[in-house]
Order: sequence, then C-alpha cells, then structure tokens
Amino acid sequence: MTENQTIIQAGWNFDNSYSRLPDSFYTKLDPTPVRDPQLIILNEPLAASLGLNIQALQSDDGVAVFAGNQIPKGAEPLAQAYAGHQFGHFTMLGDGRALLLGEQIAPSGERFDIQLKGSGRTPYSRGGDGRAALGPMLREYIISEAMHALGIPTTRSLAVVTTGESIIRETDLPGAILTRVAASHVRVGTFQYAARWGTAEDLKALADYSLQRHFPDVADAPDRYLSLLREVIKRQAELIAKWQLVGFIHGVMNTDNMAISGETIDYGPCAFMDTYDPATVFSSIDIHGRYAYGNQPYIAAWNLARFAESLLPLLHDDEEQAVKLAEEAISEFSGLYHRHWLAGMRGKLGIMNEEPEDQSLVGDLLSMMQQYRADYTNTFRALTFDQLEGTDLFCSKDFTEWHERWQARLGRQSESKESSHQLMKNSNPALIPRNHRVEEALEAAVEEGDYSVMEQLLDVLASPCAHSPEQAEYAILPPLSDQPYRTFCGT
Ligand code: AMP
Ligand code: MG
Repeated sequence: MTENQTIIQAGWNFDNSYSRLPDSFYTKLDPTPVRDPQLIILNEPLAASLGLNIQALQSDDGVAVFAGNQIPKGAEPLAQAYAGHQFGHFTMLGDGRALLLGEQIAPSGERFDIQLKGSGRTPYSRGGDGRAALGPMLREYIISEAMHALGIPTTRSLAVVTTGESIIRETDLPGAILTRVAASHVRVGTFQYAARWGTAEDLKALADYSLQRHFPDVADAPDRYLSLLREVIKRQAELIAKWQLVGFIHGVMNTDNMAISGETIDYGPCAFMDTYDPATVFSSIDIHGRYAYGNQPYIAAWNLARFAESLLPLLHDDEEQAVKLAEEAISEFSGLYHRHWLAGMRGKLGIMNEEPEDQSLVGDLLSMMQQYRADYTNTFRALTFDQLEGTDLFCSKDFTEWHERWQARLGRQSESKESSHQLMKNSNPALIPRNHRVEEALEAAVEEGDYSVMEQLLDVLASPCAHSPEQAEYAILPPLSDQPYRTFCGT
C-alpha cells in the first residue's frame, strides 16, 4: 500500500475555505518536519466523531501528519494573520507557532479547523522558535477536554506527539505538537487586523466569512453585520458565565485569545480556582490582576468593544450612527451575562423558578465563602450532598442563618426535593482539573515518561458530575503551601 493510500484511509476530508479569503489573511506554508515523532495521546472519541480511523492515525503515517512530517491529501497548510490587544496594548501577532492544516468535514457535515500547534516558525513568529514543549501541550489537552466534559464550549485536543527534539526554554524541554480542533480560529484579533491593515473589502470578506461559518441564520439579513456583533456578544456572555460558574480563570484574555465562535481558546496560563476569591490570579505575568477571576466579565466586554470598533465601517455609513449601534449592542453584554450567570447559580442551589431575592441569596453565600476562605467547587458539592461540616464556613453562625434562608427558598417551589437534588448534582461538578492534580500528571509524563497518571485523571474528568466513589479522592484539596500556585504562558 502506498503512503498516500494509508493517509486517505485515515479519513481526512479537508476543505480549505479560509484559504479562499483574501491573501492578506494568511501565509501558505508547510510545517517544519521534526526528527522522531512519537504519539503520546490520541483522543479516540473525538477522532471517531470527526470521521477519522483510529488505527490509521496511530500508524507511522498517521503520526507523521500530527508531527507535520506529512501533509494529508487535501490539506493546504497556512499560518493565520491576526492582531490583538495583549494586556491592553495593540500589536501585530498571527500564528507564530501554529498552522491550520485545513477544515475537516465530519460525517455530521460540520466543519472543524485542524490546527498543529508547535509546528515550526512562520512569518508571524517574531522572536519565537515556533515550537512548543510537551508539558504545556499536555496541559492544554487535559484542561480543554475537562472543559468540554463540563459542557463549556471549547477548542478540543485530538492528539499530542513528541518531536524527538529538545526546545530551549529556561532549561531544555522535550518538544511536542498539539493537534487542536476548533469551530474556527477566527478571533477578535483577526477583525482588528483587518480593520487596521486590511482594505474595506478585506474586512467585509472576513465578516461575511464569519457569518456564513458561525451564524448562517443571519448571514443574509440586511443588518447582518450588526447581527454578527450581537451574536458574538451573546455567545461570549454565555461562555464567560460558564467559566465563572465552574471557577475557570483563562489567565490571558487578550483579544487574540477570544474566538468569534464563542469557544474557549488558547489554554496558556489558565487554571481553576480553589478557594473562592474574585481577586484570584494564577498567571505569573498578570502582575496587576487584569485577568483575575472577578474581572473576566469586564474584560470580555472590553474585548467585545474592540470587536465592535473593528466592525464600525460595516455597521453604518455614518460614523456617528455606527458608534451608536455598536454602543447599544455592547451595553447588552452585562445583562446577558448576568442572566446566564444567575440562571447557572440557581441551578447550583437547586432552585427551579425565579424570585427577586435569589440574587442576594447567591451573593451572600459567595461573600461568606470569600470571608471563610471556602473552596469553591467543594462548597457546592457539600451543599448538594448535605455534607455541611468540617470547614470554617459550615461551622459559622452566618452560614446556619443562610442555610435556613436557602431551605425556606427551596420550600417555596413546587418541584420535588428529588428533582432539585438532581439539578444540583448536574450543576455542581464533583471534580475540576485541580491544579495540583494536573501538575502531578504532567510531572509523571514529562519527567518519567509515565502517562498513566494523566490517563487516569482524564478518565475521571470525562464525567465531572458522575459523583462516583472513585472520584472522591480528586476532591481532596492541595496541601497547604507557602507559595501561591503560579502558571506560566504556555510556551
Ligand atoms: P499566546 O500567548 O499563546 O496567545 O501567543 C501570543 C502570540 O505569540 C501568538 O501570536 C503566538 O503564535 C506567538 N507565540 C507564542 N509562542 C511562540 C513561539 N514559541 N514561537 C513563535 N511564536 C510564538
Ligand atoms: Mg493566542
């Protein structure tokens, strides 16, 4: 059998709609081959849903595709150009270490970007080496898959391969490539790039492309560009509410890391909050707490305002009118976000109808959790199973009073206790990718080549609301440490 036939059997079924955008949006380029690719992990359920053959993907030729050593038939690799506000400062960026192989058309008819991350230098690499290290790529794999299992829109991870080459960071690290699957990689920063450096036609082409790809229902509407803005705002409001509800901190919400599709994208220094505190920051480079947990909704609105600015020429011929339309749309974010968040919080407390005081019931619980330094995930888990002992919060008089209010509130709904309990079970994950568990899995993988710890972790994270006995140990908190947990940009 020839090489090509083997690759065809893998089920790759590419289209390349992005490459039909104006040339300024990308540079066509092949990945830089690597010395000795080894498959570390393959996401079999995801592969199957994409119409890919697992055995073929695991073969040498299959792995060569994940390593960038072979280009599957039909793929037209390219690096995407984009800009972005990084920590508030506008700059030209682009795929500096990633390539879009093409768009896989799944058996369902859905279209997914297949991107190699860590595949070598591109014209947008600036000073970087175009490569990625094994630890951060496995970290993205674990956390993105955990997010997916938590029901949060996200890019997915199909595979990680090692390259057989070292990359130089503070020390030499094993090089790796992640294959990322996304609804698309169009970012707020892609629009900023078009608005700043493209022609009027470029911007329109990108907007029309995004409408066709993500919002086909409004793609032909007369006010379609305003609809694009409003739909992106809606999806981000829902997404950020979901992050807040599980205690996810993205860590680097630059405008280039906000996807138009509404998926979570670019897992760098992200991490989950343990103790509830809105000021929580993990990223070592987020010195001023710009991307702290409690700031995420505000930053999302700020990023969306940058998106709206990029769209101004398309919103109205008259600039003043365009600004007015953009401002009106942006002003809706906070209400939309809040509604999603409060609905999610009601679910976490087993509340199935709406009362005006629900907001203060939730707010008072969160204030107490902050005051008594309660663990965010475990507090809701304990409320779900009525295991209210052993923490300062649960022993406090404040909590006893709040608990009475909550019970009275539950008593004022007609639904059964059982259905309320079921709602809480489904809304309160037993486990999240706890930072110390993720670190433990990565250490075993990177230092010892032992992937079993990661595989076990992935296994339990796949059903976060199962509340099964074997998950109990994953709810145990990290040992107290003098040093706060720190994350680093995923380089
Ligand atoms: P990120 O922090 O992952 O969103 O990346 C910000 C920008 O830096 C993007 O344009 C990346 O493509 C680029 N970048 C990150 N790491 C590297 C690297 N090792 N080599 C080249 N470019 C990189
Ligand atoms: Mg990025």
